Amino acid sequence: MPTAAFGFTVTHRDGAARRGVLHTPHGDVQTPVFMPVGTRGAVKALTPRDLEDVGATMILGNTYHLHLRPGDALVARRGGLHRFIGWPRPMLTDSGGYQVFSLGARRTISEAGVVFRSHLDGRRHELTPERAVEIQAQLGADVAMILDECPPSGIDEAAARAAMTRTLRWAARGRAHVERVRAHDTAILATNPGQAQFGIVQGGVFPHLRAESAARTVEIGFEGYAIGGLSVGEPVDVMYRVVEETAPALPDDRPRYLMGTGLPDDLVECVARGIDMFDCVLPTRNARNGQLLTRHGRMNIKNAAYAEDDRPVDEACACYTCRTCSRAYLRHLFVAGEMTAATLNSIHNLHFYLDTMRRIREAIEFGSFEGFRQAFHRSFSRTAIVP
Ligand SMILES: [Zn+2]
Repeated sequence: MPTAAFGFTVTHRDGAARRGVLHTPHGDVQTPVFMPVGTRGAVKALTPRDLEDVGATMILGNTYHLHLRPGDALVARRGGLHRFIGWPRPMLTDSGGYQVFSLGARRTISEAGVVFRSHLDGRRHELTPERAVEIQAQLGADVAMILDECPPSGIDEAAARAAMTRTLRWAARGRAHVERVRAHDTAILATNPGQAQFGIVQGGVFPHLRAESAARTVEIGFEGYAIGGLSVGEPVDVMYRVVEETAPALPDDRPRYLMGTGLPDDLVECVARGIDMFDCVLPTRNARNGQLLTRHGRMNIKNAAYAEDDRPVDEACACYTCRTCSRAYLRHLFVAGEMTAATLNSIHNLHFYLDTMRRIREAIEFGSFEGFRQAFHRSFSRTAIVP
């Protein structure tokens, strides 16, 4: 049974690009949307007020980290993640699988699930498709993800098939368990009765595996669908091809979420191929490393060339950082190791991402997305260093 509080409406189309509204228990989200990543219950260096100021409408929390500390049961007793972190708007949690799979030697995968040792204290934990449902139900985000097997890039077809078919079996178990949680047939404290569950398409870079994964995931039936296993090191044209082939195989009336991508030009290109939702740590992680993203490309703020540069990072940017700070000041803060550097840099990078999404939505509404796309690529280059 679908949740009454969750839905998706496509309002405009331009080519394969879609402009829509995601309806959630914590309000509507205009799509295409970019979700900043709040790993441990906070988008690093920012307050919820900063997030509202830069235009964030939906954020992501990492189940692995929140499960280990402070624990999803503790969060549930505080009324759920929204209330606990003071963010009353929509949220999504991942399944925890991605972090667990990247633990390498500290985890063992079997058909039942993944047994792993915490990176914090070495204690043993088990993440199964059912536990992933329960942990996320206690956290209570508006969208929960199924546990999938995320293989590394570069695997052969047999390995990609094995991960894809296991993901399908785990998806069926996760769906069956979410129905039990919704029917109050478990002991867990679900904090968001309107929570939606998304399935995840796997299959590596192999078109027939992606097609089979999409068809069989849709057969199980979810409120939305994600494309997983991309942005893991494959060439960018391969990622675009997989998105282009997979998105049309997903139901037109459900949101499509590309997990963990990417650079600003990736967002434009994947919207052009029918994606509605994105998340990525890149704008905030780069900000903390002193790398700013602008309309023209990258800027390493620690560069000596900015030591006496009184200009803002980007003259056309309306963010708080660009309205109030010079490159010279930002460079000084970064070189001196001031915490404020991370905050000001993150505000700019997220504003740039979210403003790009706003311009994408506007272009789709006006039927001018193709013109926007070409103009964006003329201005932005992922390899250009801004002088
Ligand atoms: Zn700015």
